Amino acid sequence: MIPMTLGEIARICDGSVHGDPDRVVEGEAYLDNRRPVPRGLFVALRGTHSDGHDHTPGAHAVLGSRPTEAPTVVVADPVVALGALARHVVREVRPRVIALTGSHGETGTKDYLAALLPGALATAGNLNNELGVPLTCLRLRPDTSRLVLEMGARGVGQLSWLTSIARPDIAAVLNVGSAHIGRFGSAQLIGQAKGELVEALPADGLAVLNADDPRVMGMAWRTLAPVRTFGRRGEVSWRRVSLDDLDRPSFELGFRDEWHPVTLRRSGEHQIRNAAAAAAMALAAGESLPDVASRLSEVGPTPHRLQPREGADGLLVLDDTYNSNPDAALAALACLDAIGRRRSGRTVAVLGEMRELGPHSVSSHRHVGALARVFGVDVVVAVGAGAAEVAAESGGVHLADRDAALGWLRGELRPDDVVLVKGSRAASLDLLVEGLLDGV
Ligand code: ATP
Ligand code: MG
Repeated sequence: MIPMTLGEIARICDGSVHGDPDRVVEGEAYLDNRRPVPRGLFVALRGTHSDGHDHTPGAHAVLGSRPTEAPTVVVADPVVALGALARHVVREVRPRVIALTGSHGETGTKDYLAALLPGALATAGNLNNELGVPLTCLRLRPDTSRLVLEMGARGVGQLSWLTSIARPDIAAVLNVGSAHIGRFGSAQLIGQAKGELVEALPADGLAVLNADDPRVMGMAWRTLAPVRTFGRRGEVSWRRVSLDDLDRPSFELGFRDEWHPVTLRRSGEHQIRNAAAAAAMALAAGESLPDVASRLSEVGPTPHRLQPREGADGLLVLDDTYNSNPDAALAALACLDAIGRRRSGRTVAVLGEMRELGPHSVSSHRHVGALARVFGVDVVVAVGAGAAEVAAESGGVHLADRDAALGWLRGELRPDDVVLVKGSRAASLDLLVEGLLDGV
């Protein structure tokens, strides 16, 4: 964070100081009182179970909606104030802002991009919302020249708010799909919401769009900025794809008739598209194609996103327990199928409930069950009440919860099987993965 006094913070956030207005904040802003940052700013939020304002003893400084035991800048709404503070810092530091959004693959693509832009400050993990984006901006230092932001949306208007904090110079939309459709209401509203990112670009900025997704290409008219595309039919593209025994792609990455070899360390053919999206942004930010190609080859897997892991007895588990929706399930089942073809054992898909699908829930689960059947998965295990349709459609077994599934799998699995485990975070199937890795 750039050093600021509480008096300055109050002025920027339209608040008042309770305590010493000359106290200087130098450390990062943070939300978790159990992990205080030295000389940092604790943002006190009121949750359903606890109130941050009650946990401030020992804090260096607080941003909250009422005075606390520590020196506090009191504001009407700490979330709005956090945005205002971040907006101020971005304007002071003036980094080049490179933002991306999409229905799936945002975090994985952001991690590629961060590796392609040495010295850039990037979103940590999945901090992509009205809290995470300003917290990331507040980590800017006076000499940071590039800022990479994952910007997530679960409704119309959210990206407009985030881009009002950090206006992008380069912005990419990866895809428009089914993730969080229950929150948005309809596929049309998802496109509406994601397009807000490119609407925020200035005329001398650059919109990076997925040439193979018509709902993304339809956003070209919503921006004043020129457009650059990535994709099979894009300006940044690929050719000569081959896949290894863990479905990790090798290919040539191309831009303007120049081609360079890339070998990815992540599984799944969809990773080519994510890598090409990151490459398109990095090229726009001034990196060279040879550098981009060689750095892509160095990026390891993102944990719990289709991550191949080997168990104690040699069982291969594809840990995809971070989240689930029909599009991500299709990518995961394609990967399972590709890996299974190269091995002697069976393919097993453990498919947990998918959340945030609203009225589309039953049809989406049915769709995923049908995908498992079409791919010819040998054993399908549907886990959780909401996953009943997956079992019905695929002819698999349906088990009530994670523990029941683990017990059943322990009796059924053989070490040469390959097992995909996929479900929404709320289903915490990562614990099932750990159980399988301990031994079957
Ligand atoms: P969130 O909305 O939670 O922030 P995200 O968009 O950041 O999600 P990731 O966390 O990178 O996405 O990946 C989420 C899931 O989507 C994983 O299961 C991953 O394997 C899958 N996925 C990643 N890229 C693609 C893609 N291009 N097409 C389909 N599925 C993908
Ligand atoms: Mg994410």
